[in-house]
Amino acid sequence: MKVKIDYDLCMGDGNCAKVCPEVFVYDDEKMLSRVVTDPVPPEHEEAVRQAAAECAPEAIVVEE
Ligand code: SF4
Repeated sequence: MKVKIDYDLCMGDGNCAKVCPEVFVYDDEKMLSRVVTDPVPPEHEEAVRQAAAECAPEAIVVEE
């Protein structure tokens, strides 16, 4: 699985970093999350799917 954030859509609420902190880290200065582990390790794929489902602006782009 590959994952990226579309910064045209991300509203910087940091929810993805709460749902899956192993893959998404919130940057307090830029007020955005970034992906720190791509490709996604198999054990975190489910949490990434959950983060994508919860991302209101649908900014998390997952490639299975
Ligand atoms: S959950 Fe979505 S909108 Fe919120 S920081 Fe993550 S990518 Fe951005």
